[in-house]
Amino acid sequence: MKFFSANIDSLRELYINQLRTLLSSEEQITEALPKMISKATDTQLKQALQSHLQETEVHVARMEKILSENGGKADAVKCKITAALISGADEMIKDVTDESVRDAVIIASAQRVEHFEIASYGTVRNWARILGENKHAQILDQTLQEEGHADQLLTSISDRVNPYAEKAA
Ligand code: ZN
Ligand code: FE
Repeated sequence: MKFFSANIDSLRELYINQLRTLLSSEEQITEALPKMISKATDTQLKQALQSHLQETEVHVARMEKILSENGGKADAVKCKITAALISGADEMIKDVTDESVRDAVIIASAQRVEHFEIASYGTVRNWARILGENKHAQILDQTLQEEGHADQLLTSISDRVNPYAEKAA
């Protein structure tokens, strides 16, 4: 049985395919974050998303560098999971009228994306190690740490913001 439309029959091919998919994921997040920032109300939430947007631009550049050094194929493979997470977030955000409740939805949506990225970067970092790509592993681990910090910051913001959402009529 074939699980992939592109022929992938080695861990290295799978690894490169996943890097290209993660590049698409980061590109989509770069486009989605400005919309989330404009719809957020809490100042600290806006700032956290803004600084993660800047980090995400660095994540795109890192991924392009890894891919271009690895055979010159820096073209993305569309990440359908990220697309679904973002369109799901858009739908939920537009249905909410209360500002604090909207912030709670924005935090929840952003954290879903972070957790997907954390899972994905953890996997490709470990594959990089197995494949002997130690430089890649280091770079991927750096991005993984930044996704983790973004997620933790959102948790701490939600601890402060969600009680306001709870009080919304
Ligand atoms: Zn990222
Ligand atoms: Fe992220």
